[in-house]
Amino acid sequence: MTAAAPTRETVAEIAGHAGDFPILGRTVHGRRLVYLDNGATTQKPQAVIEAEARYYRESNANIHRGVHWLSQHSTDLYDAGRERVRSLLNAASACEIVFTRGTTEAINLVAASWGRSQLKPGDEILLSGMEHHSNIVPWQLVAEQTGAVIRVIPVTDDGELEMQAYAEMLSERTRLVGVCHVSNALGTVNPVAEIIRMAHACGALVLVDGAQAVAHQSVDVQALDCDFYAFSGHKLYGPTGIGALYGRKQLLDAMPPWQGGGDMIHTVSFERSTYAETPQKFEAGTPNIAGVVGLDAAIAYVQEVGLDTIARHEAALVEYATQALGQIPGLRFIGQARERAGIVSFVLEGIHPHDLGTILDMEGVAIRAGHHCAMPLMTRFGLPGTARASFALYNTQEDIDALVAGLNKARRLFG
Ligand code: PLP
Repeated sequence: MTAAAPTRETVAEIAGHAGDFPILGRTVHGRRLVYLDNGATTQKPQAVIEAEARYYRESNANIHRGVHWLSQHSTDLYDAGRERVRSLLNAASACEIVFTRGTTEAINLVAASWGRSQLKPGDEILLSGMEHHSNIVPWQLVAEQTGAVIRVIPVTDDGELEMQAYAEMLSERTRLVGVCHVSNALGTVNPVAEIIRMAHACGALVLVDGAQAVAHQSVDVQALDCDFYAFSGHKLYGPTGIGALYGRKQLLDAMPPWQGGGDMIHTVSFERSTYAETPQKFEAGTPNIAGVVGLDAAIAYVQEVGLDTIARHEAALVEYATQALGQIPGLRFIGQARERAGIVSFVLEGIHPHDLGTILDMEGVAIRAGHHCAMPLMTRFGLPGTARASFALYNTQEDIDALVAGLNKARRLFG
């Protein structure tokens, strides 16, 4: 095979870490687990599993409510988690970090709070044609309620955004641009800094869906100058059910609460309630405290390994996979953007992606097959779905070799 291997440096830098993930030691259908479905969710290192367990063993209490020591301790851990997320995104202040259940809830928060209070009939929301359903449907809901209009930035055959079309769509009617940093279906890295600069020149805000970005590259919301940035902890080696929204402080301050309840108030009477400051104003009810503790541990973990090291390792894996898979007869890549992160998406002639997924599963190889919650993008490419291999820091060249062997077996079976 002539494919380029991950460089010796990246393999060496990463090598010590695969053993941190206990689940990778298990078998599936009697085979070594080859986990290539990291775009859906990543596996968890022992440090995250242990941090959550230790929280319940030693620190569990509700936050912001108790005069007792344990409640204060739990509150301190929760606040430390917020500071950790701030450092991940390089936000100016921890007040700009709102905990949510994940990316989906973060986007729904912006749509419900900012969208419902700001949008009027005829206002335009520009969404890219490669958005995940979670950056489409919340805007459709708010558009129905406000009379705002959704317009779609087209995607090229290579899976990049048509930037000229985007420039022409921007106008004084544009109020918000919603775009993924990295496409979950194609791996395309979008030029978000430029997208933001162009939107701001028209007075529009930008929400960046960072679900597929934060585990693969370092993100700096101040350098990007973005208004909102959303991500999920579980795609970043952290627990499910926890994520965050970054919002520029003056925007969050001006936005109304979107859910009411305990913890988000300042005073309550039956006549009128007043609300807590940002970010508590957006965190009604008992939050996922253990999830925040786990997310804190996950971010500490990737910061220790180094996001730049992870990015280099995964770039080498994408290059290796592109060359290795490219030698399989009948295989066609979907999305060949100049800049891609951690994902290869493809179809194999004559075999439905679901059948591919099932055959690979019998070999212990876990991939994702289907529309990847990006149905409009699949329609754009005239496909019901694709097969997607998505990488994480623990994946190796051997994992890709196992994928190639499984795909060749599928060809023989269907041949
Ligand atoms: N946006 C993108 C680009 C995604 O890949 C995903 C999940 O796959 C989401 C949003 C939704 O994330 P979650 O289900 O964690 O809220």
